Amino acid sequence: MTRLVLKFGGTSVANLERIRNVARHVKREVEAGNQVAVVVSAMAGETNKLVGLCREASALHDAREYDAVVSSGEQVTSGVLAIVLQDMGIDARSWQGWQIALRTDASHGAARITDIDGGTLIERLEQGQVAVVAGFQGVAPDNRIATLGRGGSDTSAVALAAAIKADRCDIYTDVDGVYTTDPRIVPRARRLDRIAFEEMLEMASLGAKVLQVRSVEMAMVHGVRTFVRSSFDDPDAPQVGAGGLPPGTLICDEDEIVEQQVVTGIAFAKDEAQVSIRNVADKPGVASTVFGSLAEANINVDMIVQNISPDGRTTDITFTVPEGDYERALGVLEEQREAIGYEAIEGARDVVKVSVIGMGMRSHAGIAARCFQGLADKGINIRAITTSEIKISVLIDSAYTELAVRTLHSLYGLDG
Ligand code: ADP
Ligand code: ASP
Ligand code: MG
Repeated sequence: MTRLVLKFGGTSVANLERIRNVARHVKREVEAGNQVAVVVSAMAGETNKLVGLCREASALHDAREYDAVVSSGEQVTSGVLAIVLQDMGIDARSWQGWQIALRTDASHGAARITDIDGGTLIERLEQGQVAVVAGFQGVAPDNRIATLGRGGSDTSAVALAAAIKADRCDIYTDVDGVYTTDPRIVPRARRLDRIAFEEMLEMASLGAKVLQVRSVEMAMVHGVRTFVRSSFDDPDAPQVGAGGLPPGTLICDEDEIVEQQVVTGIAFAKDEAQVSIRNVADKPGVASTVFGSLAEANINVDMIVQNISPDGRTTDITFTVPEGDYERALGVLEEQREAIGYEAIEGARDVVKVSVIGMGMRSHAGIAARCFQGLADKGINIRAITTSEIKISVLIDSAYTELAVRTLHSLYGLDG
């Protein structure tokens, strides 16, 4: 008996017609003799609408009440899908986060899952009932609803799969898998049959929003076989393809990938902002004061560039922060002006971080040099660079996003 978790995103449940289509996918898996738990998102656009409502109600709204409001989208779709399934003669029941219970920490608005009690669901699945679980939500230690951050239904699904020891977690979305880059930007992007957990983690962290970052972390830690596929495929088409799976992308261990490419994909993130501190003293303790005060304000710093000063006196420090924290970061640095000691602060919000990702980089030289040459040939200036074992990221002007992504995509032979 195979136990599956099927997750359907916002576009897949955007209206009743699509929910009926989702139900046909569920029915097919039930009729194949599988135990099925489903995780649903809110209807497309619904969460944005609810977030907007909270903001309109008050710019400084209470995070617990935000969670009470924005979690409601998933409550609706879980109930509606259960009704549609019942109408098709399938035994189904909806579940809210607190009913399972899916427990989280206290960070309302961006909570982390701490524990899931899989017992009750497993019992129901073994009785042949389909569980339709509201994604994106759980219950915090204060016994109130908590949401898991935008895109969090992916994490609900993978965590649930780990908790009920599912054989696979199928993520149904509006693309038929993970591509070498966002297919909306590069029409020549290619679908990957398989991608290693580590690479998917980099892709997601560096901007490929096809999966929430935490869902990939969770899949990696718990070894959940995660399969990304399209909900728009005909539910009744034969489910055969590579490895007995229909078109899609399997996220799996590195050693399950036969033909490892040097570069697997290109990702980009527009939600970063650049901060440059001009003429800071080049002496011990300055970086610690700068980044210590930002850390205290809970601001994540990503890329950092600092020069050796020519005269041993002053230098510049450049770094990036999430765009949403940009104003706050400037405020913190202004407050610390005396303690840090600098001449001026400059910043830019119209920047994008473009990243080249691939496990093969560990064993191949010259990947970064080709990236820099390729961008130079197009006249694209690089503001900052960071690298790790399996990725290179460059910060550039956002006006060049598409050109840079397309250029690098071709350069590394990824075009389909
Ligand atoms: P859902 O509502 O199903 O959770 P999302 O909108 O969160 O769907 O994620 C799917 C989208 O992710 C796709 O429509 C695609 O534009 C985008 N995306 C970004 N990078 C990639 C990539 N490398 N491969 C596939 N899709 C990507
Ligand atoms: N509905 C939530 C969001 O839009 C969660 C999700 O779809 O994954 O962020
Ligand atoms: Mg999503």
